[in-house]
Amino acid sequence: MIPICEPYLNGNELKYVKEAVRTGGISSSGKYVRAFEEAFAEYCDVKYSVAVCNGTVALQLALVCLGIGKGDEVIVPDFTTIASAFSVCHTGAKPVFVDVDKMTWNIDAGKIEEKITPQTKAIMPVHIFGNPCDMDAIDKIAKKYKLFIIEDAAEAYGAMYKGRKTGNLSDIAAFSFFANKDLTTGEGGMVVTNDRKLYNRALYYKNLCFDPDALRNYIHNNIGFNVRMSNIHAAIGLAQTEMADEYKQIRIRNGRLYRNYLENLSGIILQKDQPNGENVFWMNGILLDTERYGGTRENLINRLKERGIETKLFFVGMHRQPSLLKFGCNGTGDYPVTDNLAQNGFYLPSSCSLKEEEIKYICNLIKKYFPPPLPC
Ligand SMILES: *Cc1c(COP(=O)(O)O)cnc(C)c1O
Repeated sequence: MIPICEPYLNGNELKYVKEAVRTGGISSSGKYVRAFEEAFAEYCDVKYSVAVCNGTVALQLALVCLGIGKGDEVIVPDFTTIASAFSVCHTGAKPVFVDVDKMTWNIDAGKIEEKITPQTKAIMPVHIFGNPCDMDAIDKIAKKYKLFIIEDAAEAYGAMYKGRKTGNLSDIAAFSFFANKDLTTGEGGMVVTNDRKLYNRALYYKNLCFDPDALRNYIHNNIGFNVRMSNIHAAIGLAQTEMADEYKQIRIRNGRLYRNYLENLSGIILQKDQPNGENVFWMNGILLDTERYGGTRENLINRLKERGIETKLFFVGMHRQPSLLKFGCNGTGDYPVTDNLAQNGFYLPSSCSLKEEEIKYICNLIKKYFPPPLPC
């Protein structure tokens, strides 16, 4: 079986975990937490980073640090994981959805302004599948309406826009280290920022609002979270970060191989790179134009499954999520690009461990499944 994605743990992971266990430093106060935060900040070219226990709470913590809460609205792309939207809901604010661009599959900056109201406080671009968003266009809107930008960079470690790394393109950003992400700690997340005030708030809210300046300990002036990362997870994270550049190059190579093998195939639509961006190809997805391809998604997926190739359907649009409609989000409006991706898109295997032969094999199966349409 060729899986969609499996962790790649070929560096110092075991060595550092052993060291953490051997010394008894397994809680969040162990030395690897700080070391991981520092290495990760350096990797993203940001000043500060705060390790937390997953990517969803990293987003939520970032929103809380910006002061976002009840009565506020946050612009979120319709085509993303539910975690982006839930993180907004948990602050008490409301996510407002914008359709994505049909080339890049990222938030369509041209459709953001029509969704802005007096309640809008922030825009949350998601660099989907490792492809950076059109940040200049988003910046321009944020400046015009005085909105914060919070990047959901969970899928885009090391991706660049105009020479700057993701995480460094906004007020504050969040990453995930879930097992299927480019860098992983099994479960984990990180908040990054260049703003010292936001950094201090993140540290404060992350750990139950313990006040370092209070006259007496155990006096808490605000309601905080406990979203600390353990030293064991951080030990893995540090080892992963040491390999980040190498993993990035492997992902880019794999992404380009898929592109080369599938590019001119009738009915197969691939994600286009954001101009001025560097895509890191977290996931390689394809969108079927079933008429031109001459077959359905279900048939193709079953065919691949019979040959031991795992696939997975794309996300379903946020405007169709029962949970979010119940929460009071507006499900109306047109989201044709997201709906098309949800109906006709799916992921192909995208692990770092993929061999070129395997990619070729997968692409050949996709090519051969249906005979090319007869010339008319
Ligand atoms: C994975 C992911 C998250 C959530 O991360 P978890 O660590 O699973 O909580 C958020 N946003 C995006 C875009 C993701 O891909």
